[in-house]
Amino acid sequence: MTAPLKHTILAVSDDVSRMLDSCRAPDAVGKVDFIISCGDLPFDYLELLMSCFNTTMYFVLGNHDGEGFCRENGRVDYQPDGGESIDGRAMEAQGILLAGLGGSIRHGLTMKNQYTEAEMWRRVLRLTPQLLTNQARYGRRLDILVTHSPARGIHESEDPAHRGFTAFRWLLEWAKPRWMLHGHSQFIRPPTALQTHAGATDVTYVPPYRVLHWEAQTVAKETAAPNFLFSRKRIRQ
Ligand SMILES: [Zn+2]
Repeated sequence: MTAPLKHTILAVSDDVSRMLDSCRAPDAVGKVDFIISCGDLPFDYLELLMSCFNTTMYFVLGNHDGEGFCRENGRVDYQPDGGESIDGRAMEAQGILLAGLGGSIRHGLTMKNQYTEAEMWRRVLRLTPQLLTNQARYGRRLDILVTHSPARGIHESEDPAHRGFTAFRWLLEWAKPRWMLHGHSQFIRPPTALQTHAGATDVTYVPPYRVLHWEAQTVAKETAAPNFLFSRKRIRQ
């Protein structure tokens, strides 16, 4: 089946948007084809988004998700209900090649969802065979890299908790995704639109959310290169 040529993607991260935190959100944002979460969000918020937009979500978790999410009934969950984790793996979603790497640089006493640079290098290298399979099958390695943490030198801070990963910079150069979406850079207060071009990749800081438009360049062949169009529209909370 031929993949649709245009997609609208809702990306969310780190901060709950009052605009989205009700089922009126589709009225403001419109229909979306799927949701991407970069982590550190309450699971019931993510589940509400999936329900209200009636679509699936591809997600990675953030460092604050490591302790789990405590429900009102006391149950602690470690993943949202529904949606699909793309942490540490690559997949194709409606013709778009996604890969995800959750977590942050190791900085706290709790080690869940925190990685040293060496540990993240291992996670990045474990992804590469899947991206080479993409290359053989689709003619490109990756379309969107989804992470929680920033890459080293892009939207990062030098404090121990918000430093970016050098391994991500290598992955951007090697896999050449059109897009990297990330969160975690809490130094950016209040969250403001932040986008940086790095090589072949537009790196976008997502919090609290972005509405993104993707358009295929040519009629779909598996080897057709996609063309990403970023929505400049950003609705404030
Ligand atoms: Zn974080």
